[in-house]
Amino acid sequence: MKKAAFLDRDGVLNRKAPEGQYVTRWEEMKFLPGADAAIRLLNEAGFLVVVVSNQRCVAKGLITSGDLEAMHARMHREFAAAGARIDAIYYCPHDYEPPCSCRKPKPGMLFDAAQALDIDLGASWMIGDSTQDVEAGMAAGCSTAQLIEDGISGNRGARVTAPSLLEAVHKILQFESAVVPMQSDPAAPETGSSTSSSTSGRPKKS
Ligand SMILES: [Mg+2]
Ligand SMILES: [Zn+2]
Repeated sequence: MKKAAFLDRDGVLNRKAPEGQYVTRWEEMKFLPGADAAIRLLNEAGFLVVVVSNQRCVAKGLITSGDLEAMHARMHREFAAAGARIDAIYYCPHDYEPPCSCRKPKPGMLFDAAQALDIDLGASWMIGDSTQDVEAGMAAGCSTAQLIEDGISGNRGARVTAPSLLEAVHKILQFESAVVPMQSDPAAPETGSSTSSSTSGRPKKS
């Protein structure tokens, strides 16, 4: 089984559209600084990189699923050209009603990916900018990271918070190197500031 980093799309990889609007054209797809570097780090650390995105704009008729998939294919190519490998892109095209099993905070997309790609959810992370992302990650049994402007406010229990994907990934990799698998401490500090506090007698996994 493999570990994965599940990434939300809007507000994580690309700039979010203004409130109530959606990214429906390639011209509106503006990648955030450091997103490619963050994905490269995840690749190198052995994570599958899986995008999981709510795209209610499909249900609202603002974009067809074909056009959305074409945009995702182009996004995949652009990152690949920068040496950043995205392993899969999942999206929920549904509206709030009727309820589906894939729209975050439901964990359906994470479960689907886990089955298709042989992912160990307990060894995986969900990284997003909204509480729905954190809730979906928790519901799937993943560790969670939330991107928050100032890195503090509005955190609803994510293990790691950071202002950008790249900084979140740095913290996650520090966190991973400090935590012995299967002994994760629920009371561990959320900041991941564990640079060189080597505790005695902990077996070192690499
Ligand atoms: Mg988002
Ligand atoms: Zn759905």
